[in-house]
Amino acid sequence: MIHASLKELAAALAAKTLSSVELTQLYLDRIARLNPELNAFITTDPERSLAAARLADARIAAGQAGPLTGIPIAQKDIFCAEGWRTTCGSKMLENFISPYDATVITRLEREAGMVSLGKANMDEFAMGSSNETSWFGPVQNPWDKTRVPGGSSGGSAAAVAAALAPVATGTDTGGSIRQPAALCNLTGLKPTYGVVSRYGMIAFASSLDQAGPMARSAADCALLLNAMAGFDDKDSTSLERPSEDYCRCLGQPLQGLKIGLPREFFGEGCAAGVMAAVQAAIDEYKRLGAELVEVSLPNSHLSVPAYYVIAPAEASSNLSRFDGVRYGYRAPEYRDLSDMYCKTRAQGFGAEVKRRILIGTYVLSHGYYDAYYLQAQRIRRLIADDFVAAFRQCDVILGPTSPSTAFKQGEKAADPVQMYLSDIYTIAVNLAGLPGMSLPCGFDDQGLPIGMQLIGNYFDEARLLNVAHAYQQASDWHRRTPAGLE
Ligand code: GLN
Repeated sequence: MIHASLKELAAALAAKTLSSVELTQLYLDRIARLNPELNAFITTDPERSLAAARLADARIAAGQAGPLTGIPIAQKDIFCAEGWRTTCGSKMLENFISPYDATVITRLEREAGMVSLGKANMDEFAMGSSNETSWFGPVQNPWDKTRVPGGSSGGSAAAVAAALAPVATGTDTGGSIRQPAALCNLTGLKPTYGVVSRYGMIAFASSLDQAGPMARSAADCALLLNAMAGFDDKDSTSLERPSEDYCRCLGQPLQGLKIGLPREFFGEGCAAGVMAAVQAAIDEYKRLGAELVEVSLPNSHLSVPAYYVIAPAEASSNLSRFDGVRYGYRAPEYRDLSDMYCKTRAQGFGAEVKRRILIGTYVLSHGYYDAYYLQAQRIRRLIADDFVAAFRQCDVILGPTSPSTAFKQGEKAADPVQMYLSDIYTIAVNLAGLPGMSLPCGFDDQGLPIGMQLIGNYFDEARLLNVAHAYQQASDWHRRTPAGLE
């Protein structure tokens, strides 16, 4: 049961061979047993989860169930959920109980009837690629406990990989759904910017942040995205479009599909094992009837530098609200108001968050704004234009998700630039606002999972999911599970 697909779980619930309470209890037991080591969850509340499961069972009994009713899910601790502690991985919000629900939570819990198992660990304020910046400690990669699960949605990834939850929510500002999915053998999707509401999702870089599903398969991602996506008038950047069924393309043949291979993603800087697995996946796509075309993203080498101006600039503004006045941590001792701000922020934020606030404040300051922030915005446009040109030649773009497989805990923690380079293939997608996903495509010589990235044109999620699904019908990488976690 713990490795069943969402469809299989829904069928078992509908047939009443299994109740949501039983299923929820099964996962809660696994969490109680395995989470003390893995540290995938920051907060659980079994009574709350079971109460939601009872409600779901009543809905099922009344014939009012949707395709996800009664199915448990791990929620990244970046989403405000009423009555739940919502920390965003920070000491700043260590004791913050949210008074309201993020739209994603409303949709998944109240509308779809899913059961939240708890709040998943994450890098502090989603800043990181390894989950090591979390105030609540690092998360172990279920494939090798000495290694990182990726980040910032590392708790979500580890939870699903270790079968502590069938699916999870994640968020992706520069790669935080795709990179941990790659490092933990999962399938994850970052939708087109504006498709999923950001209301109640603690903001990091508002022009880049986007929530999406993390699961074991593209088919599960499609079902979850159906429940997450849609216009929301509480988010001014939410896009008003007709609702769509993201499962609608699943099963379509790939005959004639044009896959673009960006020259820049197949050069230096990528581990040989990763490259070999991605090449093998390309061959598989050829067998499935796809046509391969070489494309170019000539400005992609500028994506990391541009991102590390734009994202910190937005973060420095967004994080100014954590001032010890309205909510969150406040320094216990201070002389006056200004001293209270200083001590609160000095004590409440971790080192990486402070680094981002300092960089962001610097690049926005008078005299540097034109040289850094404005330049970065120009580069952002060039990067988006590169994709527009590439999508004139192809339907989807394929490449590696991460330049390496899961690295050791501590290996990159002391060198921020090394850490930032984990996202060389993912960041351009956020800067352009495009949908991107990662899916399993093999293992390296140490038995660590490898992910490939598929990038789609704006609003082409349904096709993207089918391109991933077709590969998953022809391969079994995504079905493999880590040993020792039975
Ligand atoms: N690793 C990137 C960063 O640290 C991206 C994080 C994210 O997508 N939230 O900013």
